[in-house]
Formats: sequence, C-alpha cells, structure tokens
Amino acid sequence: MHNIKTEEEIDILKQNADLVSRTLAEVGKNIKPGVSTLELDSIAEQFIRDHGAVPGFLGFNGYPNTLCISINSEVVHGIPSKYELKEGDIVSVDCGTKYKGLYGDSAYSFAVPPISDPVKKLLKVTEESLYKGIEMAIDGNRVGDISHAVQRHAESNGFSVVRELVGHGIGKEMHERPEVPNYGNKGKGPKLRSGMAICIEPMINLGTKNIYQEDDGWTIRTYDRKPSAHFELTVVVQKEKANVLSTFKYIEEFYELK
Ligand code: MG
Ligand code: MG
Repeated sequence: MHNIKTEEEIDILKQNADLVSRTLAEVGKNIKPGVSTLELDSIAEQFIRDHGAVPGFLGFNGYPNTLCISINSEVVHGIPSKYELKEGDIVSVDCGTKYKGLYGDSAYSFAVPPISDPVKKLLKVTEESLYKGIEMAIDGNRVGDISHAVQRHAESNGFSVVRELVGHGIGKEMHERPEVPNYGNKGKGPKLRSGMAICIEPMINLGTKNIYQEDDGWTIRTYDRKPSAHFELTVVVQKEKANVLSTFKYIEEFYELK
C-alpha cells in the first residue's frame, strides 16, 4: 500500500516534473486575449514532444488533448477549443507528461488581466493552500493532515473546496494510491512514508463547493457558475520536509498576478 518509489523512479519523476513545469511556463507565455485554448494545446504538445516525452493526458481514458484548460467557472478537465481568451479570464492549465515509463502532472491557474479583486484573492489563496498542504507532506503524517491544511486555508478565506475530485499518488500510473482529498481531518487517512510520490491539487471555488459535469463527458463546472481555481504540484514525502519535484519557478520568471 505504501507505494514507495526507488531513487531511480524519483529521478525519472523529477525529469517529468521539470518538463511539465517548463511546459506550463511555455503555455503561460502565450496566454493573452485572442489566443484560443486549442493554440495553447498545440504549443504544449509540440514542447513536450520536442523534449522526447509524450503528453500524459492524450488518450488517457480517451481524453482528446494534451492539456486540460479550464476557464472561469470550469473547475478542471476543460477540453481545448476554438474559445479565444479575453480580459478577466481565469485560465487553469493542467498538464501531464509520460517519459521513461513514468508520469508528470501539475497545474497552474493564470489570469488574463485585469481581473476583479475577489478573483485575484481566489487565485492567491488557492496557490497558498497548495503550499500549506505540501508543508504537511512529511513522513509519519497522514493524508488527512494535508487535506485539513488545504481546507482550513481555503475556507478561512471564505472559499469552498471541491469534494468530488482529489489529488493522488503518481508513478508508473498517472493516478495511484493514495487519494489525496483537499478536505478532511487531521490524523486520519493513510500514513505518509518517505519515498511516496503524490500530487497535491486544491480545486477551490469562489461560491458553492458543488460542481457538475458538462455533456461533453469531461468538463467539470461549478454549480453556481462562479469562478474556480486549481494549482497542482508533485512532491515526494520525506522526513522533515517534502521534496517538491515540480515547480512554478519558470512561470514566476515572467508572470505575476496583477
Ligand atoms: Mg493534473
Ligand atoms: Mg493530478
């Protein structure tokens, strides 16, 4: 059950995580009004293939694209389309890779400025809640410690936590055990052990926590159609401090929430 990775597997996961991180930045550089989400998808696919990897989501359970791009009230699993970005949009980009037999998976919610103050706060708090969760990803803690930290930060700022979709272990499969919910109780759930690789991915809503799936069979949207944000990083549990494999540093080199 513990799903402990070898040093070699962690090294390959790190290579995937780095490529996913660079791909998210490459996509982010192209986010501006008038660009379609399909254009962003091709940029990502080309970038991943140019680096000798394959898109992790393409064909996964029949998924048609490289990225999931979820706009505004879309929470996750938005399918790239001819939709053209406009000012005020939240653009949540989720990216996966497969390289040397293992997976990478991370997500970042960009904004097309100008955005409203409540949306700005939603984005900031969702990213912060991810880091609160990562602080708990240490040997001897339980999954519920991560879940509780994410939930407490999001809810204490007046936002709500999506229940139906959760983080996960990652390795030879994109989704492995354990599930990592973004809500829960301290001290509950599976024990975290050094060498476990997990994706922590808060999906946080401005309004109700409730969601529904669109008729396309993929897109998840907030029930009240208010905005949602999503940030995801891959980490390896260690003693004292998690080893954070993916990173937003390539994004932060050129992008700042305004
Ligand atoms: Mg993801
Ligand atoms: Mg994931």
